[in-house]
Amino acid sequence: MSSTRTASGRTNGRNSTWRNWGGNVSARPAREVAPASVDELAGAVRKAAEDGLRVKAVGTGHSFTSIAATNGVLIRPQLLTGIRGIDRAAMTVTVEAGTPLKRLNMALAREGLSLTNMGDIMEQTVSGATSTGTHGTGRDSASIAAQIRGLELVTADGAVLTCSEQENPEVFAAARIGLGALGVVTAITFAVEPVFLLTAREEPMPFERVLAEFDELWSENEHFEFYWFPHTGSTNTKRNNRSAGPEQPVGRLQGWFEDEFLSNGVFQAANWVGRAAPAAVPAIARISSKALSARTYTDTPYKVFTSPRRVRFVEMEYAVPREAVVETLRELRAMVERSRLRISFPVEVRTAPADDITLSTASGRDSAYIAVHMFRGTPYQAYFTAAERVFTAHEGRPHWGKIHTRDAEYFSRVYPRFGEFTALRDRLDPDRLFQNDYLRRVLGP
Ligand SMILES: Cc1cc2nc3c(=O)[nH]c(=O)nc-3n(C[C@H](O)[C@H](O)[C@H](O)COP(=O)(O)OP(=O)(O)OC[C@H]3O[C@@H](n4cnc5c(N)ncnc54)[C@H](O)[C@@H]3O)c2cc1C
Repeated sequence: MSSTRTASGRTNGRNSTWRNWGGNVSARPAREVAPASVDELAGAVRKAAEDGLRVKAVGTGHSFTSIAATNGVLIRPQLLTGIRGIDRAAMTVTVEAGTPLKRLNMALAREGLSLTNMGDIMEQTVSGATSTGTHGTGRDSASIAAQIRGLELVTADGAVLTCSEQENPEVFAAARIGLGALGVVTAITFAVEPVFLLTAREEPMPFERVLAEFDELWSENEHFEFYWFPHTGSTNTKRNNRSAGPEQPVGRLQGWFEDEFLSNGVFQAANWVGRAAPAAVPAIARISSKALSARTYTDTPYKVFTSPRRVRFVEMEYAVPREAVVETLRELRAMVERSRLRISFPVEVRTAPADDITLSTASGRDSAYIAVHMFRGTPYQAYFTAAERVFTAHEGRPHWGKIHTRDAEYFSRVYPRFGEFTALRDRLDPDRLFQNDYLRRVLGP
């Protein structure tokens, strides 16, 4: 594809179609730019405003909602990557916004450093991941955005704005999970800590036992999560805790067999069969839930938290108050059992402590996340609609990057600080340069 270099970065000659990872969202931007510096990016924002076009920065398109879609100017991340600096006294790292999490994790490990917590893959960019509130699971440690100590962004007027707890604190409160609505993030400063070892214990456990012992499993582990296989009474649990070592990684062959062959290869094949013959799904689920056996390993945090996800799916995830998780899961299970749904993907359950970010799904509330998935290409609406009804009855807050049908009216009820965010947006982006259909729905016009 030909590209030309202009004052506002590399501009793509063609307006090609942009698609997300899940394959359920596409858009045709008027033009694409890949700025290589903050100045180029600010130039691209000013030029778009002059041309009457809206602007949207994207990461790697791992969101399932149309949050990153635009028919205006699409800002690509790939030339704005790398580590700007590490401050060992402050224990922070500053990275360019387009840096993939994978690159950040590896660079930190080489320096003997690590983030405290993260999600289950590391393909996303740091700006994309934090803008939607990407999280893993944690008793005491929260989302990736909650580990931010400072942000730099280009606002709608093309100016560069920096914020932290001390500087422009009202911007910092909201912009760490800014939904791409407040400006284009150009650099992020994260808190880091000396690299540590995590011991993972993966163990199948009956669904009823996990629910009965949920409070203990949560309180006795730094990072507890589990997967429930619909149509079965089985789960796989995962407990990650810091350890003094020694390092005991998953063996290469075992890792290939369990993480690639079973979790991706066989799982993909099982989903193909399930899509072609839905009646077979409960039997496949029973087999899948028994396929993985217990294992324990100790490794660098990012190798324990994240794993490859090659089987394509679509996802909805809601945060409910942590004390409501057991009841919500019982209702979800009852709904599945009453229905004629056939679900070949496990339901994932994680937690996060309350944080202080305006539109974080865990804002001011200890939370549990329940995620439902469907294999790509399988109709998901009936399942997600029924699951969403269960989640919203508990004042659930949907992940900003995962499928949901909520709007600004709903969010103004479940986020006590919703008005704070929209007032800041009115101030920073009065003409809605960063607007798209998704933001119009979730934040209002
Ligand atoms: C296989 C898979 C696994 C996942 N695992 C998890 C998980 O464990 N936990 C979890 O919480 N989520 C998870 N997600 C969801 C994913 O982390 C989020 O959707 C995330 O936002 C995707 O990041 P991205 O870089 O692809 O950003 P995109 O999806 O491309 O963009 C997301 C948002 O960020 C904005 N944005 C991007 N760059 C900038 C910038 N420079 N300035 C301002 N705004 C910007 C975009 O405009 C858009 O609003 C997963 C998704 C997939 C497909």
